Amino acid sequence: MNNNNNKGPKCWICNDTGFVTLEKKANQYTYEYAERCTCKEGQKASSKIRSIERELAEIMAMENYIKFNEGK
Ligand SMILES: [Zn+2]
Repeated sequence: MNNNNNKGPKCWICNDTGFVTLEKKANQYTYEYAERCTCKEGQKASSKIRSIERELAEIMAMENYIKFNEGK
């Protein structure tokens, strides 16, 4: 194990931004929209923005973690 590398964000779901950008496909178009993260950063954001579902949050966290480890 090499722990000398950058450890990455505190929150793998939103990379500490408080928001998660999601894509939604409708007809031929892909829309991007944001949802609030469940972490501390996300709680700072306006409550008008809906928070991400737990199941989706776990998928996002896993994807971000994989991307990070691939060095992307
Ligand atoms: Zn977060």
